[in-house]
Amino acid sequence: MLKLQQRVQGVITAIDAHGRGILPYGKERIFVPAALPDEQVEVTIVKMIKEGYIGAITRLTHPSQDRVEPPCPHAHSCGGCQLMHMAPAAQLRWKQQRIIAAAKKEKLSLRIHDVVPSPAAACRNKVIASFGKDRNGMITAGLYEESSHRIVAIDRCLLHPASCDAIIQTIRTLMKELRIEPFDVRKRQGFLRHVQLRWGVRSGEILVTLVASESRFPARKRFVQALLQAHPAIRSIVLNVNRRDTSIVLGSEEHILYGSGWICDELLGRQFHISSSSFYQINHDQCERLYQKAYDLLELKKSDRLLDAYCGIGTIGLCAASQVKEVIGVELNAQAIADARINAKRNKITNARFICEDASRFLLAAANQHQRYDAVLLDPPREGSTPMFLDACARLQPARIAYISCNPLTQLRDLKILAQYGYVCDELFLYDMFPMSTHTESVALLKKGGQRTTKVRRGSVARTQKDRGAHEKRYRHGK
Ligand code: SAH
Repeated sequence: MLKLQQRVQGVITAIDAHGRGILPYGKERIFVPAALPDEQVEVTIVKMIKEGYIGAITRLTHPSQDRVEPPCPHAHSCGGCQLMHMAPAAQLRWKQQRIIAAAKKEKLSLRIHDVVPSPAAACRNKVIASFGKDRNGMITAGLYEESSHRIVAIDRCLLHPASCDAIIQTIRTLMKELRIEPFDVRKRQGFLRHVQLRWGVRSGEILVTLVASESRFPARKRFVQALLQAHPAIRSIVLNVNRRDTSIVLGSEEHILYGSGWICDELLGRQFHISSSSFYQINHDQCERLYQKAYDLLELKKSDRLLDAYCGIGTIGLCAASQVKEVIGVELNAQAIADARINAKRNKITNARFICEDASRFLLAAANQHQRYDAVLLDPPREGSTPMFLDACARLQPARIAYISCNPLTQLRDLKILAQYGYVCDELFLYDMFPMSTHTESVALLKKGGQRTTKVRRGSVARTQKDRGAHEKRYRHGK
């Protein structure tokens, strides 16, 4: 058993899912932020955690060839860029190797391609800043330190354009001038919790969402006037009220303070209407490449009925609408569906319909009604899809399925299930949407053709609403 402040020497053997180096110590493991494989290090134990210990590097005897000086001074404190100390090419290699290892573990034989690098480093079109006070009572803006209530003050983040940092700094100054208190999570006092900025990479339009603890905002007029004067690119300002005790940023109540409550951006030649709470891909240029790859893989035809499952504001389906007969989009978030319908109109697309429902439930009903879909494109959240969705999807028998994922590990799990239904996948294509982080985006094509294996018994997947809850819960826990 190790003690706090104890020093340990050794060689880092691997990197974990959070980007930390792993230093084995007997049967125990020490997780070392900013350490790379093969590096010889001396670490000081700074924390005990469930899986072992956290160690901070006190001496680096043999640095890795892949080590670089992080271009950001906050790299080690903010926790947003877990791989910034790693050369960009090595980051891509690591992301690929990690997914190859996961596929091997799932006993899936498929070719996992090299990761396509992000076209730009300052690639993010959304930023969320939190506000607090430092020891001297000065208002700070930045990110929460990992698993703490402390704000790491950041005046410049390299992942997005400098104009966004300038807006955050103006808000910080205005808070002081107008006596707007930052929200204190522990005391549950104060007004401003976060600011979310979204901007259209092509349009240049900016949407500012102030996330506050209550709707009463006495200084609103002066605040809005001053912010617009300093940053004319702002198209809309929204007050989002989040009264809950939660780490989820946005609440459900919104008041428009200026403009329409949304901005517009262009993606693959189509115009998209984006509200503050709808999902919109963060890395615009890489997103265009990823979508294009999915369409190429699907080889869409004019006679196709295409299902866009987990469709968000309808981007994937609407960009493909001219290539197919009909698009049906399904999504749980009502605001996103409202945006999707507006987006269809805005682009004069008449062959797309959008339905606000749980994707699994929607697909189950479609399968029970023997509906026809020639191609399915699914893009679920990080947890992946569900057994109910995958079972219903297989029963619908689309000729082609394109599966886009922001978490290839859950995607591989789902590919394995689809393989048991006779859907074959030979290749996985990886895209670096989030440089410097441990995340990777991926797309795979599945074609009907393989043998249905005996592993999946008919009726093994919940078909009724009653069974569903328990089954989905078991599945999420990997049982
Ligand atoms: N395809 C879109 C959005 C992908 S993100 C795009 O590329 O922009 C995943 C989406 O799944 C989010 O919009 C989220 O709201 C939605 N979602 C999450 N759970 C869902 C469920 N159970 N049923 C339908 N949609 C869901």
